[in-house]
Amino acid sequence: MIAAMPETTGAPALSKRVRTLKPSSTVAMGAKARAIKESGKDVISFALGEPDFDTPQRIKDAAIQALNEGQTHYSATLGTPEARGAIAAKLTGENGIRGLGGEHVAISAGAKHSLYTVANCLFDQAVPGEAPGEAVIPVPAWVSYAPIVELAGGRVVEVPTTPESDFKANAAQIRDAITPRTRLLVLNSPSNPCGTMYTEEELRDIAAVVEEAARTVAPNIVILSDEIYEKIVYGGIPHFSIGSIPGVAERTITVNGLSKAYAMTGWRVGYAACPGEFGTRLIKAMGALQGQMTTNITSFLYPAIPVALNECAAEVEAMRAAFAERAVLAARLLGEVHGLDAPKPTGAFYLFPRVSAHFGKASPGGRTLGSALDFAEALLEERLVATTPGEDFGGCADEHVRVSFACSEAQITEGISRIAAFVDSLR
Ligand code: PMP
Ligand code: GLU
Repeated sequence: MIAAMPETTGAPALSKRVRTLKPSSTVAMGAKARAIKESGKDVISFALGEPDFDTPQRIKDAAIQALNEGQTHYSATLGTPEARGAIAAKLTGENGIRGLGGEHVAISAGAKHSLYTVANCLFDQAVPGEAPGEAVIPVPAWVSYAPIVELAGGRVVEVPTTPESDFKANAAQIRDAITPRTRLLVLNSPSNPCGTMYTEEELRDIAAVVEEAARTVAPNIVILSDEIYEKIVYGGIPHFSIGSIPGVAERTITVNGLSKAYAMTGWRVGYAACPGEFGTRLIKAMGALQGQMTTNITSFLYPAIPVALNECAAEVEAMRAAFAERAVLAARLLGEVHGLDAPKPTGAFYLFPRVSAHFGKASPGGRTLGSALDFAEALLEERLVATTPGEDFGGCADEHVRVSFACSEAQITEGISRIAAFVDSLR
């Protein structure tokens, strides 16, 4: 969606790595909507994927107490033993991932940072003449996976999916995408941007493919299961952690964080965990890398982690229930908009409607809609509704826009009625 940064002439150059890096379109669209709102305009933002709730008070209190008590110094790079232990216990108790102790957990500055660190522990920087390691990613997928893999030196192998399969890849498609160079299979259920989920059975089929591939063609394959939306489920499909399946457990890295479930996006707390011999080596390597990079996360946040994980079930449930109601409302209203079809959301807080039925039409503001980006830009400029255009999510996403319904029911109703009016005005 956003062009890579241009070359400069004359002035000192930046690295090729950043010059060719595409900034995050979700972050950019969120910033654009915020800026228009701050200029006094009545923007409805369906752009950024972040809960509109406040962090539960008891979590804040734990951090405030730690701050007041002087927990303000450097601490262990990967987290305090209490925080790492609480995460290991949660993954064992709630997710059924066996063999985990605190030493198998790395805490990072958000799940995004966890993914970045993991990728740098798995991929080697590209060497001319050598084929890079590969990350198999079913697409559409969250915009940051591909840049994170590529920055680390890996190559993305997209597995295309369609709305008809709820944007899910099946085991046979995954098998076909695996090669001797495969290092990573990225799974994200519930999915950003699709709002859909894999069933336990589907994940067991995929796990069987990975187990077989690990024995035969791809000895270095690792699953990265991004479960950041695990608590926001409402469509009847229970969340299932692929890392609980014994045959792949010791090659599955489970990534999660506090951002979404506890409305803590600004705190920046994420984690990665993996049991077994590989897990031990991986987490150690993540410690070495983060020790040269960030040291620890903000030290007075650590005591808030066990509080969130162990004491906030009621607050999490209240937020989940609100998202469930919003999902029903948003899906119903959007389903009534001409030509905007989307699979029913079952988790996270996204709808991912196809908008390509309107490509080729012109908006009242005089813009011809040739792409999802055109659609999203015209909708924002002419009707003050911010969505995220699909282009950077990969695969068929360039025919879609993402609608994040992490906002009030009144905003959902008003925003979707503006979308309907926009669509009706296209000629
Ligand atoms: N994974 C997915 C699928 C996401 O949507 C996000 C966006 N918040 C993240 C990871 C990163 O979350 P954070 O860095 O806030 O923990
Ligand atoms: N993950 C959220 C989103 O997709 C927040 C922004 C980001 O980190 O991408 O909108």
